[in-house]
Amino acid sequence: MAKYIFVTGGVTSSLGKGIIAASLAKLLQARGFKVTIQKLDPYINVDPGTLNPYEHGECYVTNDGAETDLDLGHYERFLSTPTSQANNVTTGRIYQHVINNERAGVYLGKTVQVIPHITDEIKRRITLLATENDFDIVITEIGGTVGDIESLPYVESIRQLQWENGRENVLVVHLTLVPYLKAAKELKTKPTQHSVKLMNENGLAPDIIVCRTEEPINGDIKRKIALFCNVQVDSVVEAADAETIYDVPLHMMRENLDVICLEKLKLPLRHEPILDNWKAFLTKLKNPKHTITIGLVGKYVELQDAYKSILESFVHAGAVNECKVVIKNIQSEHITPENVKEKLSGLDGVLVAPGFGNRGIEGKIESIKYIRENKIPFFGICLGMQCCVIEYARNVLGFTTANSTEMDIHTAYPVIDLMEDQKNIIQMGGTMRLGSYDCEIEEGSKSYEAYGKKYISERHRHRWEFNNQYIEQFEKAGMDIVGKNPKTGLVEIVEIKDHPFFVGAQFHPELKSTVENPHPLFVAFVKAALENKK
Ligand code: GLN
Repeated sequence: MAKYIFVTGGVTSSLGKGIIAASLAKLLQARGFKVTIQKLDPYINVDPGTLNPYEHGECYVTNDGAETDLDLGHYERFLSTPTSQANNVTTGRIYQHVINNERAGVYLGKTVQVIPHITDEIKRRITLLATENDFDIVITEIGGTVGDIESLPYVESIRQLQWENGRENVLVVHLTLVPYLKAAKELKTKPTQHSVKLMNENGLAPDIIVCRTEEPINGDIKRKIALFCNVQVDSVVEAADAETIYDVPLHMMRENLDVICLEKLKLPLRHEPILDNWKAFLTKLKNPKHTITIGLVGKYVELQDAYKSILESFVHAGAVNECKVVIKNIQSEHITPENVKEKLSGLDGVLVAPGFGNRGIEGKIESIKYIRENKIPFFGICLGMQCCVIEYARNVLGFTTANSTEMDIHTAYPVIDLMEDQKNIIQMGGTMRLGSYDCEIEEGSKSYEAYGKKYISERHRHRWEFNNQYIEQFEKAGMDIVGKNPKTGLVEIVEIKDHPFFVGAQFHPELKSTVENPHPLFVAFVKAALENKK
């Protein structure tokens, strides 16, 4: 039977449950266990695909096309193993399943209730992951904060799982905040005590308490938390602020979090965590030989979580190139033909971000014109790629009113258009082109050089596509279609030859970059920006 570790949060949100869960998973994986991480989100949306990035940050997409919480991105970046739909479940999905069952008559004659029907479905989703994939350990992060009304069924499900399987099989790690009061010059344990009490009221008790803190926690504080929260003193773990999220596994190793968990789960320690690649990455990350500045042109730049995977991909690709990548956020809405030069000055490369809808689109197109003409390395992702196609159509092909039909349904030159099978879709959730699709790359292209192979597979999340009616005209005018889906012929990558680096990808390379496998296109783009600087 698999062992289960739950990571819950107390006191406040944004303490970094996802990073703690991913770090613990990394340590267990490095000791030779087969581990996965799952996120249970308490909101009613069936998935975060219908949420605005301002609400929820980036929507992360898995190989199997699930639109998921951005924490799954951390899980993949840390573990380098793919997640799937089963790794992210929301309350909406749980209820949808139970209500569908009820209509189908599965519970015929019974009153359908939170306990047992909803909690049973939650438990089924948790255990399914292990039984279908043969994991030794499943770590499940519970979104939100203990005490929230909407978290209650999850807390109750963990209680039941623990009661059914015993504490040596089901462990609860509770992450809390131990604030430092400057005026009193004191660390305060009361919020932690209160959050554990709330959990206790729901019948659950933590086995391990991880304390986020800005100041080191001494033995007295640990003893106090242990006493009031009813855990062993060595089960109180300090999680001090880290220089980078990638330091956290090593911090947790120093605090013995992996050993404490394994001992409580009655599992062998196997061997010390093997983290050579991880440490090599950190060494490069912390000792850069060069610095470059990349402009990130997008419309959600005020909220860093909206571009989480892109930012992390630059961290990975920067380390490979022994180069610190400074990101300069540029709000695309504020870019005009008059100020574009000034807005993009001092940049070694520019990435034009993915996105939806009209806002900021002209600023993106204006930036690309400037970058193309001034031979600044360019990387366009999804909408960013579509914008470079529109820009080329307008300014090189002379189709001055060219557009995507997403922005202008009546455009005379729909160079980006909806695919036939997208035209009649009325339901918004889960209906984009989602998940992994194959791509064949043309030899001799920049992308081929970066990947070092002809056949790749990358993740998608979009409705609109390059309009293949225009392929010939684009190629004649110097924009090459270098990547295509071998089955459908859909355009995946465009490039311009006469340019140091000009690559637009319809897919989202950022979703596959991990610490141990940095994405080749990001690595090549950073390299090109570095050469441009020199
Ligand atoms: N809005 C565009 C489309 O749906 C691009 C989406 C994206 O950038 N992810 O095709």
